[in-house]
Amino acid sequence: MRLSRSLVPTLKETPAEAQIASHRLMLRAGLVRQTSAGIYAWLPAGWRVLQNIARIVREEQDAAGAQEMLMPTIQPADLWRQSGRYDAYGPEMLRIRDRHDREMLYGPTNEEMITDIFRQSVKSYRELPQNLYHIQWKFRDEVRPRFGVMRGREFLMKDAYSFDLDYEGAVISYRKMMLAYMRTFQRLGLKAIPMVADTGPIGGNLSHEFIILAPTGESQVYYDAAFEQIDPASGEFSFDSNADLARCYERLTTPYAATDEKHDPVAWEGVPDRREGRGIEVGHIFYFGTKYSEPMGLAIAGPDGKPLVPHMGSYGIGVSRLVGAIIEASHDDAGIKWPDSVAPWKAALLNLKQGDAACDAICTDIYRRLGNDLLYDDREDRAGVKFADADLMGHPWHIVVGPRGAANGKVELKRRATGERTEVSVADALARIA
Ligand code: ATP
Ligand code: MG
Repeated sequence: MRLSRSLVPTLKETPAEAQIASHRLMLRAGLVRQTSAGIYAWLPAGWRVLQNIARIVREEQDAAGAQEMLMPTIQPADLWRQSGRYDAYGPEMLRIRDRHDREMLYGPTNEEMITDIFRQSVKSYRELPQNLYHIQWKFRDEVRPRFGVMRGREFLMKDAYSFDLDYEGAVISYRKMMLAYMRTFQRLGLKAIPMVADTGPIGGNLSHEFIILAPTGESQVYYDAAFEQIDPASGEFSFDSNADLARCYERLTTPYAATDEKHDPVAWEGVPDRREGRGIEVGHIFYFGTKYSEPMGLAIAGPDGKPLVPHMGSYGIGVSRLVGAIIEASHDDAGIKWPDSVAPWKAALLNLKQGDAACDAICTDIYRRLGNDLLYDDREDRAGVKFADADLMGHPWHIVVGPRGAANGKVELKRRATGERTEVSVADALARIA
């Protein structure tokens, strides 16, 4: 993309309304603009990041055997009356009436809808287990929307729903999701800690929140230092059988159990190297048994011909919140440092002397080769402005083309994450970026 013809409205000044780094940087780097409290428009650069995150989430969900679908944002109130949640949900739910005075709502989550779809379509135990997910906008009328997209009112979530014949099957579905989540967060350049979460009236221990450590996080957490060493992509965390899967799950949950201040300090007695920190919740997985299938009358034919009520679980990832969380985890005073996997563009091309024949020729050549993966700063601006904007926007690589180097066919290549700079030929620069 050519920056001179793109809507990437960077700001020099720090917006007064933004209290934390990620919110400030998302506004300053031209990723989003607020349209009303807790509701944001995603501008081209921000939308690219959001899509990159969604792609990684999708790849790991697919690899774990979940099937992608898309449910609507608007739901009939009737479904929520069947589960008993319509009144229970309270003012966080945006309630809508259509022209025929039918009660509708903008979905804050989709347990009722997926259960309804499942009960219409699945008749036999032979069709289970299944796991279905979608990546869709949600609306929750949060009391205090804040920190930009971190606690928005409209936000993008990946939510998956598993259906199993019994508790044992549901445990396997749950463990598979736990591992898929660890891999997902690692590919996003994040260290996520699975933290034991409240199961409320469901009981048991099958609920975990995934926490990214950041000083500005809303949750207080305690965790074993061993978490910092976990590599979910290593061979240790691959599995061919349910026994393997159980072993991987054990590695992630004990003895590394992490908790927030509300739970179970006793579990800490044996932990040799306890750490304390603040964190951002980026995902939540939950087994809830027959909480929805039972009241909504989802029953299928079991192996013995008798009706069987499937056990369910749900698995959320805050896709839009992750944009903020990644920035919280990866920035400096100058701006964002995007991990390669989610950056809006792989590289920025800085033409320091627009109109200089050698500079223009090299830039045109590089732009032709990298095309859509590159943001070409071809603006008629001072070098200082281009350097500052490239750091602010956080491109993983900066290719700097100035008249002195260009005369010898050289460019300067900068790695944003480390600040390392080297003078290289165009071919070498392209090879390193690839
Ligand atoms: P929180 O405690 O932060 O309100 P939650 O428990 O209500 O989260 P879930 O219902 O489990 O969240 O939703 C799944 C994921 O969606 C969360 O882990 C979080 O990453 C994301 N999420 C929830 N609420 C918001 C919001 N208001 N803005 C952005 N992302 C959100
Ligand atoms: Mg909430």
